[in-house]
Amino acid sequence: MNKIAQIFETLEYGPAPESAQPALDWLKSHGNKFGQYIDGKWTAPGKTFSSDNPATGKPLAEVTEGTAEDVDKAVKAARAAFKTWSALSGYERGKHLYAIARAIQKHSRLFAVLESLDNGKPIRESRDIDIPLVARHFYHHAGWAQHLSREFPDQVPYGVCGQIIPWNFPLLMLAWKIAPALAAGNTVILKPAEFTSLTALLFAEICDRVGLPKGVVNIVTGAGDTGQAIVGHPGIDKIAFTGSTEVGKAIRAATAGTGKGLSLELGGKSPYLVFEDADIDSAIEGLVDAIWFNQGQVCCAGSRLLVQESIEERFIEKLKKRMSSLRVGDPLDKAIDIGALVAPVQVERVRDLVKKGVAEGGSLYEPDIDLPKTGCFLRPALITNVSPANSVVTEEIFGPVLVAMSFRTPEEAVALANNTKYGLASTIWSENINLALDIAPKIKAGVVWINGTNQFDAAVGFGGYRESGFGREGGKEGMAAYLKPAWEKDLKPTVAPKAAAKAANPLDAASGIDQTAKMYVGGKQARPDSGYSTPVLGPNGAQIGEVGEGNRKDIRNAVEAARGALGWGTMAAHSRAQILYFLAENLDYRRDEFAERIRAQTGATAANAANEVAASVERLFAFAGWADKYDGAVHNPPTRAIAAAMVEPIGVMAIVAPAELPLLGSVALLAPTLAMGNPVVLVPSTSHPLSITDLYQVIETSDVPAGVINIVTGDSEVLAKTLAEHDGVDVLWFAGSADASKMVEKASIGNLKQTWTSRGLAYDFADKQKFEGDYFLRRATQVKNVWVPYGA
Ligand code: NAD
Repeated sequence: MNKIAQIFETLEYGPAPESAQPALDWLKSHGNKFGQYIDGKWTAPGKTFSSDNPATGKPLAEVTEGTAEDVDKAVKAARAAFKTWSALSGYERGKHLYAIARAIQKHSRLFAVLESLDNGKPIRESRDIDIPLVARHFYHHAGWAQHLSREFPDQVPYGVCGQIIPWNFPLLMLAWKIAPALAAGNTVILKPAEFTSLTALLFAEICDRVGLPKGVVNIVTGAGDTGQAIVGHPGIDKIAFTGSTEVGKAIRAATAGTGKGLSLELGGKSPYLVFEDADIDSAIEGLVDAIWFNQGQVCCAGSRLLVQESIEERFIEKLKKRMSSLRVGDPLDKAIDIGALVAPVQVERVRDLVKKGVAEGGSLYEPDIDLPKTGCFLRPALITNVSPANSVVTEEIFGPVLVAMSFRTPEEAVALANNTKYGLASTIWSENINLALDIAPKIKAGVVWINGTNQFDAAVGFGGYRESGFGREGGKEGMAAYLKPAWEKDLKPTVAPKAAAKAANPLDAASGIDQTAKMYVGGKQARPDSGYSTPVLGPNGAQIGEVGEGNRKDIRNAVEAARGALGWGTMAAHSRAQILYFLAENLDYRRDEFAERIRAQTGATAANAANEVAASVERLFAFAGWADKYDGAVHNPPTRAIAAAMVEPIGVMAIVAPAELPLLGSVALLAPTLAMGNPVVLVPSTSHPLSITDLYQVIETSDVPAGVINIVTGDSEVLAKTLAEHDGVDVLWFAGSADASKMVEKASIGNLKQTWTSRGLAYDFADKQKFEGDYFLRRATQVKNVWVPYGA
């Protein structure tokens, strides 16, 4: 034992252990063996697997491997409970959520200790971060339950939600999923990750204790197979998944065509930018939190350090010094910085990736600090001397490993930061607020922290861009993800259009002057690459014109042109509004001509054709009006920071318009897309494309910048597949048959593009109530939350 004088001399930490006993006693009260929590009851344990303490390797409890039958039972219980739960008033549901929040606070230490035992994270983190945030989520969503009908009029819950979560924040991810789902009136089946089921089981007991109606929350434990059974169950209306991008893509493919709601919170490789004018010591402390919080097993970990070259050497030197004072050890020791990784397989995975990084030329630094003799412990690691293509720079390591690179200019910093398939989070350190606020909107990530890192709050949405997934958790955006318009359930299948009276011979010339509409790419008319043209028939089968048959190359050119026009998104909303108004004005000027064209293609009455043109003009007006109004919010999280929720365009959008309503069908989808700043590749109705090919002249006289609207004619299903597979397309909206919608959703997994499909249902785009509001605006935008600290 050191003498006090010696302790003053060395300033060494003594042990500060937290007792594991209460958590162990709780496990014992269940015989250290658990069944499933279904319909408010515990089932008898089935085939079990062991949940181990990663710090010691010792088993904590036996947990049941959920079978398809378990999932089915849980779905039935959730379905039965949905009726009464969703019919409760918001106030009543809010009181249940409040009761859960209070119970979590009352048992917060038990939850924290159990979490640290099961997951290996330092008690300091589970006690001070995870569990308080869990309670905060239930409190916050208790409020949403009550205000739902005011804030989300005409929205209804999905029904039964299947929720699948990872092991890195076991209870927190549960709260992020369950709190909004219940607030909205859904019932849930939640599957925790196989390594970390225990706090979810304790949560089940809390639900029981606070009198949550049976079947509202069901916890089914198990691994990937159990997850697959949830994803594939036809009785589930929405899947909410947090986990790896790989499994997220598999889930996207498995749910394609089913009409299930889907939100995906996936991986990341988040950049941590340090500019030369940063407060270096603060930036180093921030970095410790960014990459060594939870042993680096954080989806939004600042795992890619980008430091300005002028301070690189000094920064790295200080960083190494700081790394050597980090303490790795028993997660239940309150003075530990880094605990245990979740399982031996994760340790091996991290080691392999580090080895690969070194083999590719990286220089590895690990401080010479003590590690416990056994358990899943790793030293904090820093890899320098890497280039953008190295695997340690591109792949998510999900461990305590930082890779560092440098940049010279702000432009280079942005280019490096965005050089990733992910887009979850980013951190910017600079004492120059102008610089920080200039960089923040340029980073493709759902969250940007300025002079801070890893800040979370229930009122502030969290979620990714690109392959980090889609959907948001937290904030109003997160609530919206558990609701859908009430009218969607009444949609009827489309009536198949009448077959053309006679198949036309492509060589039959139309009467009058030859009219072959070209495509429209990059602001110019373009001939189809294929060299083929397709006849366009009138209602009686006579040929009334020809359009080019678009192919893969035409799509490639159009996407390239649209990518070149991404600046449309940074143009002032007021300017975009003016252009949309101008489009409307110029279309209106030629309304008779457009009405006549509709009649010629569809045989519509003169009045209906005129109405369709008038409705298209009105729709353009409506979204010109939205361009500068559908904007963000400023959140006040319970820290000294604001979070500016910025509504941003998503990127290049592809629209495959419905067969019906030749003009309005395209305009209804085009107008919200353009208003929000997304350049578009539009495939008009296959059978009636001429209303849109006529639009070129209107576009050209309306100051639409080149590349903002690109039009490719041809077979809409063939072109939709090409668009779905194209990595340059960020979003795809497809109006067409159920089978083709499924194909489109499946084909879109390459870059995880966001999709909207009509699934063969008759959306009435003429309905202003439904389609002049936020239905498509929400789908044409994503929210980025920029956290800005204030105060000294
Ligand atoms: P994982 O994808 O392997 O597993 C996640 C969950 O999915 C587990 O419950 C697992 O049992 C289940 N699962 C596995 N295969 C499945 C399948 N085929 N069908 C259905 N379910 C299946 O991920 P992980 O290793 O547990 O977690 C780490 C990953 O989670 C990292 O990539 C991390 O970035 C990500 N993550 C993301 C966020 C976010 O909010 N974006 C938050 C935390 C973690």
